[in-house]
Amino acid sequence: MNIVVAKSAGFCFGVKRAVVEAYKVLDENAGKKIYSIGPLIHNEIVTGDLHKRGLIELNDISDINNLKNEIVIIRTHGTLKSIIDILKKNNNIIIDLTCPFVSKIHKLVSEYSENGYKIIVIGDKEHPEVKGIVSRAKNDICVVINEDDIKTLKFDKKEPILIVFQTTTNVNNAKKLVDILRDLFYNSKVVDTICNATQNRQDEVKELAKCSDVMLIIGSISSSNTKKLYEISKENCEDTYLLSNLSDTKKISINENAKVGVSAGASTPENLIEEIIDNVRNEF
Ligand code: SF4
Repeated sequence: MNIVVAKSAGFCFGVKRAVVEAYKVLDENAGKKIYSIGPLIHNEIVTGDLHKRGLIELNDISDINNLKNEIVIIRTHGTLKSIIDILKKNNNIIIDLTCPFVSKIHKLVSEYSENGYKIIVIGDKEHPEVKGIVSRAKNDICVVINEDDIKTLKFDKKEPILIVFQTTTNVNNAKKLVDILRDLFYNSKVVDTICNATQNRQDEVKELAKCSDVMLIIGSISSSNTKKLYEISKENCEDTYLLSNLSDTKKISINENAKVGVSAGASTPENLIEEIIDNVRNEF
């Protein structure tokens, strides 16, 4: 069996930074309560370990409202502006581990909407990152993910519009939608906010999938960028499997002569990738 691992597999810059910092905050504040708003990253193995080390994850707005004078971590994909406002009002110490690529979108949306632009975000409106982006707008903002969504837009074709992207959105789909949007709205400005980590990973997985018999995409089902990798891989290699943990390898079967490609989402820890590869080598 020939196993080829994508160079870009595993933690991206933003996730590595957040995980390292979160452990540091926990170490430096041993004995104190440390909170995070939602899961720090989209990987249950990593967040499970952080919880064991004492990080308390809050998802309920009433719990967040009750935080006063506490230490609170903001996750890689950011949070709603209204939540930051509540935390500040209640004198909490905010450790902002929002990935700088996401913060850049917050800034763009806030500044352009303040200057009269309406905003279109290409992405998944249910994703926390996109909800955080939407919350920064001071003018009309819409989220689109396909051509049907574009048909529902009510913006005037001459008004100034800024188009930005969820950092992990599918690059090819985004390009297709931008072409349509540019034809519809003459005064639109596009700022490509897809992060390089996402783009490189998607390009690499596509090439690897084309020349592999089987593709293994390792990462959490809750991770947007892992799911995108899976979709792209599946388009180019029918035998693509999404593996969230070691026991998922029991569900797959691989011919011993197969060429196997491996990639992993931006929030997948290195040790899980290694464990799964070792297991595949030993079992098949
Ligand atoms: S995928 Fe990109 S935007 Fe998201 S955390 Fe990683 S580096 Fe930041």
